Amino acid sequence: MCIEADSCIIAPFCQVTPIAYSACDGRVNFRGWSQSMHELSITQGILEIALRHAEQAEAHRIIRLNLVIGELSSIVDDSVQFYWDIISRDTIAERSELHFKRTPGTLRCLVCGHTFPLGGQYVCPECDGKQVVAAGGDEFRLESIEVD
Ligand SMILES: [Zn+2]
Repeated sequence: MCIEADSCIIAPFCQVTPIAYSACDGRVNFRGWSQSMHELSITQGILEIALRHAEQAEAHRIIRLNLVIGELSSIVDDSVQFYWDIISRDTIAERSELHFKRTPGTLRCLVCGHTFPLGGQYVCPECDGKQVVAAGGDEFRLESIEVD
């Protein structure tokens, strides 16, 4: 059985600071929520949401979690997997599989408003503007869970 979860995991962190990037001297300085956010609390968020949905569906076991992770979310899926194996122990999600679907990053130039795909560069291709913000691909969501 597959349950639609469609929950933003990073919502509690989203209000902290807006996501902004600036490229100076070819170096990218990231300013945003990710610095104050740990993969551990993120992973706890996933578990909380998954258990809540599984309970509502009266599931016995969680088999697989389908997560959507944006290229700009700066979440390391290996760390999430590491914490997941620890914190899911002794819950119905123990030994469940985390599946990550990656979405590409999109940036918007604050100078001219142009939107462009990340593609490894943080400088606007239209006006060479160096002040850009994330326009897409910064999400981290639990799309659905598969349960027994
Ligand atoms: Zn521009």
